[in-house]
Amino acid sequence: MNEDFGDGTRVVHSVPAVAGQPFLPGPVFASAYHLGGDDTYGRAHNPGWRALEDALGGLDGGEAVLFPSGMAAISTLLRVVLAPGDAVVLPSDGYYLTRTLAAELPVRVVEAPTAGPYPPLDGVRLVLLESPSNPGLEVCDIAALSAAAHAAGALVAVDNTTATPLGQRPLELGADVVVSSDTKAVAGHSDVLLGHVSSRDPELVGRLRSARTVGGAVPGPFEAWLAHRGLGTLDLRLARQAQNAAALHEALKGHPAVSGLRWPGSPEDPAHAVAARQMRRFGGVLTFVLRDAAAVARFLERSALVAASTSFGGLHTTLDRRAQWGDPVPEGLVRLSAGCEDTADLVADVLASL
Ligand SMILES: *Cc1c(COP(=O)(O)O)cnc(C)c1O
Repeated sequence: MNEDFGDGTRVVHSVPAVAGQPFLPGPVFASAYHLGGDDTYGRAHNPGWRALEDALGGLDGGEAVLFPSGMAAISTLLRVVLAPGDAVVLPSDGYYLTRTLAAELPVRVVEAPTAGPYPPLDGVRLVLLESPSNPGLEVCDIAALSAAAHAAGALVAVDNTTATPLGQRPLELGADVVVSSDTKAVAGHSDVLLGHVSSRDPELVGRLRSARTVGGAVPGPFEAWLAHRGLGTLDLRLARQAQNAAALHEALKGHPAVSGLRWPGSPEDPAHAVAARQMRRFGGVLTFVLRDAAAVARFLERSALVAASTSFGGLHTTLDRRAQWGDPVPEGLVRLSAGCEDTADLVADVLASL
């Protein structure tokens, strides 16, 4: 794909057009193939995985390996990169299951907040960043931290789920690895679990691919096809979601019922300067705090358009009270994922429900 094309063109044309063929070839459900071509067995090879890996790798600026969920991508990366006794730095304010997973591995876990300060990185094998972080929407200077990590001999992986491959290209900023839950905005319709890892290191990519084949947790062909179908509208969906997030930010700032409002896309956000330098565009996820859990419940009861849901990046506007899942945040902190509804309808509904 021509890298000079814009985001919309790249996602629509992520599969090269072939005369007489569908624009997006359908899923291939083979477990065993008639031998003689490149594909041998369904746990190792699938044409639909390859098509989506080409598309995501192209957008990330590396080579992508697909996994059946974001956590499968992260757990395979940690298993492949870390040896017993290694030190790994994880975000204390990032996706909580990553910390749960690492706590079960025979490694030394060092937690650091996304925006820093970071501990000395000497002797660290892997620094896993998440920027913007989930749910606090803090931002880490990826280029600066990658330089510091490389000087100390550490690898840098970035969980790019919140940003998406259109919002941020960590490999271009100096990171070694991108991990992503494509369950969120990439697939985008709240009906698929999927994830991927991208890197420019062919040796690491080969080990990840082999770990997938040997480990046996592989993506379903239909899930890969659905996610690829969703990817085609990622540019359009992100544009509407970001427009809705900007309008909600404007409507909520200074609202007496709202505190701690964060959206890195706003010039008023403390993370905006770093985010604007390293991100290509902003997404639809905002964070803010209502008085307590009961205030969040009342808001959801009144709202016709905002649904409680513990995911983000979908067509529907959803809200998640993170303390219920054990995130170390205030009881009334919510992550709101702006969907693709009409902006005026959404802002009116949210203001009326507050
Ligand atoms: C959802 C999420 C994950 C886990 O992805 P699954 O597809 O649910 O396994 C990892 N990191 C972040 C930042 C997420 O939001």
